[in-house]
Parts: sequence; structure tokens; C-alpha cells
Amino acid sequence: MVRTKKVKSAGRFGSRYGRSVRQKVRDVEINQRKKQNCIFCKGVAKRLSKGIWQCKKCGKKFAHHTFFLPKKEESKVLKEQELKKPEKSKKQINLKNNKN
Ligand SMILES: [Zn+2]
Repeated sequence: MVRTKKVKSAGRFGSRYGRSVRQKVRDVEINQRKKQNCIFCKGVAKRLSKGIWQCKKCGKKFAHHTFFLPKKEESKVLKEQELKKPEKSKKQINLKNNKN
């Protein structure tokens, strides 16, 4: 198996496809090869197809990220960021109304 220091698992492509593309493949494959935790329970989920996952423990089949499931902490951060966005837009709307 061809591995390199910089692009690791993407070293199998040799010098093809360009540096940034190989780095993207590496970043995905590092996460993809870890155990994927179910978003409903603590069980291990298996990827059936692109973005389709099935938990071995609770048996739920669900749609989520394409290549790997984010850790629960990361998904919490994403939710907080999503919650913050509409607040900002509301403030902007209020400012616009005040001007009028
Ligand atoms: Zn589960």
C-alpha cells in the first residue's frame, strides 16, 4: 500500500489529480475509516450508500453526511451556529425597520 507523509492514504494516486484534491481525499478518508457513531444512540452505524446509514444497534436507517458521521460535539456546534444566524438576520431587519 502506497502511503506518503503529506497525503497519506491518497498517496496511492501518485502525482495525479493535483495536491489540493488529494488532500481533500485524505481528509475524508481519515474520518471515513473511524467508527461511525449512530446519531440516535451510541451504536455503530454502517454506510449503506452515499449519505445513507444504518445503525447496527437500534436498526434505524437514516440520511446524514455523505462519507462520515460527525461527532456529537461537532454537530452541536453546527446547531448553535445555525441558531445564531437567524438572530443576526432579525437584528438586521429591525435596523432596516427603524430607518424607515
Ligand atoms: Zn442507533
